[in-house]
Amino acid sequence: MQHNKNSLLKLFYQEASPQEASELQKHLTDCTECQKYMQFLNRMGMTLDKLPEERPLSNTFERIMENIPERQPRTAFVQPAISAAPFFKIAFSMGLIVLLIYFAQSKISLLPIWDSLQEFWLIDAIGGFGFMMLIFFTVGTFITLSLSPILYFDMHRKALRL
Ligand SMILES: [Zn+2]
Repeated sequence: MQHNKNSLLKLFYQEASPQEASELQKHLTDCTECQKYMQFLNRMGMTLDKLPEERPLSNTFERIMENIPERQPRTAFVQPAISAAPFFKIAFSMGLIVLLIYFAQSKISLLPIWDSLQEFWLIDAIGGFGFMMLIFFTVGTFITLSLSPILYFDMHRKALRL
């Protein structure tokens, strides 16, 4: 059997089952380490017994009751502070996306498949830039849709008290 301080604590506080207790007693007869721990617990118990017992003040209950608000505070909707930062971020992101599309469309015309793609009237009409924009838009839509459950639950986390 292992030296188990938790079991020894149970034994000390007389919370061990009779079977557990007898096993522990058996172990204690030839384990000096656990014997030392039990002696330590006994000394600690005696020291604690000497301390005066703390009693709550007689009016503790009344004081607690006084501090309980009569009505449950309503969870207030916090108006987010309006700041200009998101607009700059959005403008920056959009600029970045347009640059990316511009870069991508300059490369797509180098692909050998581009010649056959251009034969479609739609791609012919919107050109390389429009085609790349369409791809970005489609990919973006799919990403947003796949993330929407997460976004939804994140927004309603407070309301759902999750
Ligand atoms: Zn032991």
